[in-house]
Amino acid sequence: MANVRSGEAFAVVEPATGKEMARVAAGTERDAATAVEAAAGAMASWRGLPVPRRSARLRAIAARLRSEEGRGLAETVARETGKCHREALAELALSADYFDYYADLAHATLADRALAVREGIRHLVRGEPVGVAAVVTPWNFPVSIPARKIAPALAAGCGVVFKPSELSLLSSRAFAELCRSELPEGLLATVAGDGPVVVGAWLADRRVRLLHFTGSTAAGRALAREAGAALTPVVMELGGRAPFLVLPDADVDHAADTLMVAKFRNNGASCIAANNVWVHETVREAFLARLRKRVSALVVGDPLDEGSALGPVRTREEAVRLEAAVGALADAGAQVHRGEAPGGPGAWVPPTLVIDPPAAAPEWRREIFGPVAMVRSFADVAEPLADADGTAHGLAAYVCTGDATSGADLLARMDVGIAGVNIATPATPEVPFGGRGDSGIGYEGGAVGLAPFLAHQSVAVVPGRRASESGA
Ligand code: NAD
Repeated sequence: MANVRSGEAFAVVEPATGKEMARVAAGTERDAATAVEAAAGAMASWRGLPVPRRSARLRAIAARLRSEEGRGLAETVARETGKCHREALAELALSADYFDYYADLAHATLADRALAVREGIRHLVRGEPVGVAAVVTPWNFPVSIPARKIAPALAAGCGVVFKPSELSLLSSRAFAELCRSELPEGLLATVAGDGPVVVGAWLADRRVRLLHFTGSTAAGRALAREAGAALTPVVMELGGRAPFLVLPDADVDHAADTLMVAKFRNNGASCIAANNVWVHETVREAFLARLRKRVSALVVGDPLDEGSALGPVRTREEAVRLEAAVGALADAGAQVHRGEAPGGPGAWVPPTLVIDPPAAAPEWRREIFGPVAMVRSFADVAEPLADADGTAHGLAAYVCTGDATSGADLLARMDVGIAGVNIATPATPEVPFGGRGDSGIGYEGGAVGLAPFLAHQSVAVVPGRRASESGA
């Protein structure tokens, strides 16, 4: 995390060049309070709008994200995060899908119901917006992660206070601006910078009724503790350590292609990135030969250049951390194969294959969060299953196999929230996405992704008699 102090200016640095893109003032406690005031004030009328009218605003945001304006935003995302421009465009398209999906879902599901379940009693069940939602997000998907929180929040009728990462502030702020042009003044209020100060102020305000967080497990744990003391519900989407298994009957070409996406998409900075690759010993050499070739062929360069497959990692500190991890694994006996990356002042890390790292190495056991693929082989599937169970993370997993049914059965034995058989991109707005254990609490996506933004009131109604009818 960048070093940011409440009230002081901080620099947003471009990862490809090391140059300053902008200086931004970090939010203060007062900014945080003003944001809640604005969101709560605007929510009073927003929640009263008929659902189809709210949904229409969400669809208008989706259309903007798909327009020329969205394409301009993708350029900012690529420059600020280092991901390639086509990946930034894909992120914008996915974000638009979240707005359309929650517009449709709210339209179809948010109606009051009257239940006739007990003789002589009518039960009225109303879903209402829970209150102001605090949305706190990481840098690696600065538009789509906020989108999958803000879209259901708005659909439910909530106001939103939003603190994006200081490492992707320009992208997230531009996205919030785009949304705001379709929303009542103040409904979506963004505050930059100092997390503990800003989020602390929000958790102390009783109008904030939900903390919807994505980020590292360490930050999530600290925030969950604070939210717990305030009895504020949380949704926490945290770090991952996804296993990627190649079974003996897998098509090794397809498995290598799938891993290249599961590992190197977004420069390897994805919570569901393949973290621990396991290849069956019978296909090990064939698989590794293909991987070496693919890793060597990856072009790392300017994220705005069409020819680049990977850009820089987010910061120089990240580059140093990743180099140290590769060095430590090599010292521990692993074989290292590297592609090429530019030199110079940017945060460059060559795409890297680390073969046979010891299973006890701390780097193998942690989330690597960068363009480094660690591969071990196995004889019995019990070994990767035990390794996955050996850490408290439980977000994603992948299996490559010629027998999709047994692949899905194998995944059912794993304690993870989202998984793919022969596919590297299992998430889509229509399905629940969430981690278990140290990977989080609750879900985004699907109908369950709307649920945290709703409070329910059930009223039992029995026909009354007027005083005059009772003979009193
Ligand atoms: P981070 O935890 O450093 O920061 C995330 C957000 O929390 C930022 O806005 C930051 O300013 C804020 N923050 C950090 N500490 C805080 C505190 N004490 N109080 C209040 N706010 C605080 O994470 P990051 O480096 O931006 O993102 C990378 C991490 O996020 C990885 O671990 C990755 O796996 C995880 N992630 C998870 C998912 C998911 O859906 N499960 C998605 C993307 C990223």
